[in-house]
Amino acid sequence: MNCPKCDSKMEIVSINEIKVDRCISCKGIWFDQHELSDAKKIKESKSIDIGDSKIGKEQNQNDLINCPKCNTKMIRMVDAQQSHIWFEHCVTCSGNYFDAGEFKDLQEDTIFDFVKTWLTPERKP
Ligand SMILES: [Zn+2]
Ligand SMILES: [Zn+2]
Repeated sequence: MNCPKCDSKMEIVSINEIKVDRCISCKGIWFDQHELSDAKKIKESKSIDIGDSKIGKEQNQNDLINCPKCNTKMIRMVDAQQSHIWFEHCVTCSGNYFDAGEFKDLQEDTIFDFVKTWLTPERKP
């Protein structure tokens, strides 16, 4: 699979049993449908995001990309909790693409939110 942003090769990196694809050049990260929610639950998963967030910010301007899996035009999504984080989402195969630094950023607050949710069970049945 090639990176949807810079067209370099992507390598497979694993966090526990989850395998994600990371671009060898811009270090953007691709998560398949369930991989993103699974990866969010693992505290150490931010260590896969080794890229330079400066490069990630530049790459973030480029949001007209096609899904590397199914070639559908991807849409821009904003994280519900952290609106400064934009990522690309494929509505066909539900894959998600994060620029370098974005997943780490997301993950630094997500664990906290996850714990918060856990402590205050106010979800409707
Ligand atoms: Zn790339
Ligand atoms: Zn797709």
